[in-house]
Amino acid sequence: MRKVSFYTLGCKLNFAETSSIAKIFQSQQFLVVDFEEPSDICVINTCSVTENADKECKSIVKRALQKNPNCKVIVIGCYAQLKPQEILNIQGVKLVLGTNEKFKIIDYLKYLDDEESKAFYSDIENAYHFNASFSLGERTRTFLKIQDGCDYTCSYCTIPLARGESRSDTLEGILKNVHQILEKGIKEIVLTGVNVGDVGFTEIPEQGRKKRSFTLLQLLEEVEKIDTEFRLRISSIEPNLLSDEIIELSANSRHIMPHFHIPLQSGSNTILAKMQRRYKRELYAQRVEKIKSLMPDACIGVDVIVGFPGETDELFNETLEFLKGLDVSYFHVFTYSERKNTLAEQLSDKVPMHIRKERNAILRQLSQKKQHYFYQQNIGKTRKVLWEDTEKNGMMYGWTDNYIRVSRTYNENWCGKISEVRLVGWGENGIILGEDSIASPDSMKVLNEIN
Ligand code: SF4
Repeated sequence: MRKVSFYTLGCKLNFAETSSIAKIFQSQQFLVVDFEEPSDICVINTCSVTENADKECKSIVKRALQKNPNCKVIVIGCYAQLKPQEILNIQGVKLVLGTNEKFKIIDYLKYLDDEESKAFYSDIENAYHFNASFSLGERTRTFLKIQDGCDYTCSYCTIPLARGESRSDTLEGILKNVHQILEKGIKEIVLTGVNVGDVGFTEIPEQGRKKRSFTLLQLLEEVEKIDTEFRLRISSIEPNLLSDEIIELSANSRHIMPHFHIPLQSGSNTILAKMQRRYKRELYAQRVEKIKSLMPDACIGVDVIVGFPGETDELFNETLEFLKGLDVSYFHVFTYSERKNTLAEQLSDKVPMHIRKERNAILRQLSQKKQHYFYQQNIGKTRKVLWEDTEKNGMMYGWTDNYIRVSRTYNENWCGKISEVRLVGWGENGIILGEDSIASPDSMKVLNEIN
């Protein structure tokens, strides 16, 4: 039996797509093996957002060939769509497939025996077709791809160039996948895409065009009707797409968790305009207030970019002060870096790299404080936790509904189940201890460090 291995870089969408491509190989009698094991074919699913996509890709190709010099390396993903020729120059790469081609990977395997390496990619404007995917691997949680591409024009972003226009699965297709996932006993589904809030554009067959068929709110209302115990999270949603109706539905939902990840990117309206984002900071603050008024214990995560061109000390301070005043729980902080073929690349007033890094450190510190405060507020409360099945040093781990990492003494009977647990204090590495767990001697140390 021929063996294939995979390596995935980047976002949850890539992980979901790797799982689908693995299934395609399995249907063709391939055995999927771990990346560290020898294989006949190794597929590397790349990302263009990571700062050193080229270096990362090269090093993974090298690793794949070290373990098995005869394995044929195929590179797919966003970086493959954006820089196919650059990837072809990496020693050992046999095949490069673009966004439109990656799901037809089996059709291209015949080129692996050619002496010359080859790249197949088409214009991203032609990427109308949607390929549904969901990740496998974790037994309690799956990332379900419901949407791909983006119609927004944020000035720093290459994703629309790599993934094309916004398009999604049909409403029926998504619900079918949800049922299929639930039948496997998986208890948590994370709705994933590039711009999840914009879900609902479906392909008009044979016409190469799309139409809006449904909205995220309609999808959530349909999911709400499902009568099985499970959890639903939205991986990320643009603030301008997170409507009052979605927040209200979430507040009264059996399935949607009180956890939102909302990209802010900057707390300065001047920078938001330069980024070509579709909202002002006032709208963002309103969204947070609305969530917290209906779900006081909700967890809210924020994406922020520091060092965007034109971000003076004063404008950075606007972001810093705005974030300090927001009732949010953690940030993902990104240091701006120039991307080819973006509008932002042409902007003047670049911020020196050392200042970008300093600002990143400042916001990360603030994020730690926010997260510590959020966790601390939940100590003493009882929350529902979905327990994973791995055991480490006698402990088991899970996430609460409002996205707090919790551990407790391992109990096999709890694996894969949702149970109510009282949060009793701090454990190792900033993880919260659930009742029935042995308090670690490091608890106080962790607390002191965070303070
Ligand atoms: S919303 Fe903006 S940042 Fe997000 S994928 Fe679309 S263009 Fe990129």
